[in-house]
Amino acid sequence: MRRDFEINNQFVAPGESKIIHLTLPALHTKSTITMPVHVIHGKKEGPVLFISAAIHGDEINGVEIIRRILSLNIIKRMKGTLLAVPVVNVLGFNEHSRYLPDRRDLNRSFPGADSGSLAGRIANIFLNEVVCRADIGIDLHTAAIHRDNLPQVRADLKNQKLRDVVEKFEAPVVLHSAPPSGSLRFSAGQAGVPVMVYEAGEALRFNEMSIRVAVRGILNVMYELGMLAKSKPKKIKTSVILRSSAWLRAPFSGVLRTVVRLGDVVDKGDVVGYISNPAGQTDTILEAPSHGIIIGRTNLPLVYEGEALFHIGRTHETAIVEEQLDAVYGPDSLNAPELVEEPIIV
Ligand SMILES: [Zn+2]
Repeated sequence: MRRDFEINNQFVAPGESKIIHLTLPALHTKSTITMPVHVIHGKKEGPVLFISAAIHGDEINGVEIIRRILSLNIIKRMKGTLLAVPVVNVLGFNEHSRYLPDRRDLNRSFPGADSGSLAGRIANIFLNEVVCRADIGIDLHTAAIHRDNLPQVRADLKNQKLRDVVEKFEAPVVLHSAPPSGSLRFSAGQAGVPVMVYEAGEALRFNEMSIRVAVRGILNVMYELGMLAKSKPKKIKTSVILRSSAWLRAPFSGVLRTVVRLGDVVDKGDVVGYISNPAGQTDTILEAPSHGIIIGRTNLPLVYEGEALFHIGRTHETAIVEEQLDAVYGPDSLNAPELVEEPIIV
């Protein structure tokens, strides 16, 4: 007989869905603040998956990704348990801010403590009440403000459990990266809960393609974990695995003109942009420092010396990268401007 799922001293019966509100530190006015957790406790046994978004409060693509996942009928028939948290950094989200009011980065404040800073307390509540009750997690991010990311999964590929599922997500690229200290990914890993991060699009914007890739990716992972029944055998599209990446930084302050798009493949020495002064009297050519694929870039043409401009994933599989991106997502799909409700076929 399947047990109720316990969270925050509340119980969710098999076959039941509930929104559990985790109490966070209140506002100055004493107004109560909560972090809503959608708990879908399937009738049948299976793994516990958590999906979280807006841990950086201005990275809102994931909020829409989770809304679309929760609206699917197939979720009502799933096995196991889904914990979906559309907004982890509730205070930052309401302020359109990456950070918390104490100016800390929540994703550098894990594991936190119940007697710690504001950020540390919120991190600790999320870690104990959600993350540690799960078997595996997907944390949804976008690039920081004024930056854009090619849809990509980041994970520690030394972890066997993650290696088994990350490619099934079918993001255009998978970047191997060790989790930064203080991040959710780091602390969850230490607690024995492997977490992959999905990075796509930019802060404070919805990006339709980034949303679609993730909705399909999360469903693919749920199929792989046995939470969803496969209706038919599915051909898995291979992601390009990137073992390392590097940022090309501005050699001078000035005005940037960019000539490469996300997903473009560059050879070492290819021109990726120019930096000039406002009157354009001097022009510095920016060249790709290595062979690879553009997985992130700045959107703001005003740059300071040392600023990160282009994120290049190093790979020698570039021939298949372009082909795959065009075939799977269409030549202009990564720049799709319209927010469209995707007809999801499951
Ligand atoms: Zn982020």
